[in-house]
Amino acid sequence: MLRRLLKFCCFVALLQLLAVTQANAQQPGASPTPLPSSAGTAYVIKAGRLIDPESGTAAANQMISVKDGRIVEIGAKVAVPQGVEIIDLSQYSVLPGLVDAHNHLALTYKKVPENDVYYYTYVQDSTALRAIQAASNGMQMLSSGFTVVRDLGNNGMYADTALRQAIEQGWIAGPAIINSGIIIGGVGGQFYPTPEMVKEHNIVYPEYLDADTPDEIIKAVRQNVLFGAKVIKICVDCKPYPYSVEDIKLFIREAANAGGLKVAGHVQTQEGARRAIEAGIWSIEHDIALTDDLHKLMAQKGIWRVGTETPFTEYRGTQAGFDRTVGGMKSAWAHGVKMAFSTDADYYVPGMTRGQVVINFLKSWKAAGIPDKDILKIMTVNGYKVCDMYDKRGPLKAGFPADIIAVKGNPLEEIDALRTVVFVMKDGLVFKRDGVMTPEQFLHGGPVNGWRIR
Ligand SMILES: [Zn+2]
Repeated sequence: MLRRLLKFCCFVALLQLLAVTQANAQQPGASPTPLPSSAGTAYVIKAGRLIDPESGTAAANQMISVKDGRIVEIGAKVAVPQGVEIIDLSQYSVLPGLVDAHNHLALTYKKVPENDVYYYTYVQDSTALRAIQAASNGMQMLSSGFTVVRDLGNNGMYADTALRQAIEQGWIAGPAIINSGIIIGGVGGQFYPTPEMVKEHNIVYPEYLDADTPDEIIKAVRQNVLFGAKVIKICVDCKPYPYSVEDIKLFIREAANAGGLKVAGHVQTQEGARRAIEAGIWSIEHDIALTDDLHKLMAQKGIWRVGTETPFTEYRGTQAGFDRTVGGMKSAWAHGVKMAFSTDADYYVPGMTRGQVVINFLKSWKAAGIPDKDILKIMTVNGYKVCDMYDKRGPLKAGFPADIIAVKGNPLEEIDALRTVVFVMKDGLVFKRDGVMTPEQFLHGGPVNGWRIR
């Protein structure tokens, strides 16, 4: 009897909990929830030149009103409620935030002590330490105008999820994060672990989740979703035992089943690319394996090319490698492949922030002869699309989060204008003003979202 009573009490308590959490969920038709930290804030921005990257056009002397973190109205004249601060950007081009579609914010390998061998970074730096570094890297990205980062693994034990949650809860400033959790691959992932490592499942883990069978594939996807992944990243062909078309289709099905996530595939061989394309993968990460023929197929099937095209600089790359990279970009562009701006940035260059390392990838896009206004579209519109957020965040549109940047000059005509970001607003809060980071509004002890919506 007592046991039955206890059971009943538990049931009632559970119902009450459900009722509370339901009440906290957003009501259909209600006005949009204020973004964390942004409730009660309001601004009107005066834009000297308001750029629409979608159409590649600009309009002079526009105004944007922002309230509770979201854009309210855009036009030549908008209502200015009393007491609202006016931000004067009349000397600048104003545009939506930029996207890096492939970065690793919780990984920074360096000359000292690991001689740029990233295997050693995993051994030496804890997930906790890397999460703090990710927070710093995120702010460095935001300062360079990147309001969205697709963060694709090698982030220890879910430091990427921790970063996303901290930003979404308004604890720290940072880009919107689309994170993958742990990269899933055949045993060993991208590493060449010793038998001891594999047997004990230590040292190289948790950088990769092993999934060699259909059951393991489903389990790995579910584990990542459980621990906060927003995209599924797989190693298609990192080993001499690549995934089959059926394996990749299973990943796609299970990711779709688990919250409608998309699958991003690290691809390094032509055979791997062919299989990923045939399976209908969402995006191919890295350009190394992609040929004219594969570009043709990708264009036909609408598969994203997230090429991570590294420029040849004094700190990285070779002329021959760069020529290949640029040749690949020209081919993709000529074939009408959907392209995203992406970097694979995961290393330290002395004297440069993560954001400066990333924006320097403009060199590759310019070398490929892609027109400036198209590069801008790729860095914004295409970025929101490959992140699968185009209908929620990114474009400057009433009701959307106010992620807005300003630069000197006109990036539609001179894309290098993006190198000098003077103003950044994220979620309707000012992160950078007159070229100086001003993150005060982002830093405080709360709020905390309920556990169900993390
Ligand atoms: Zn990568």
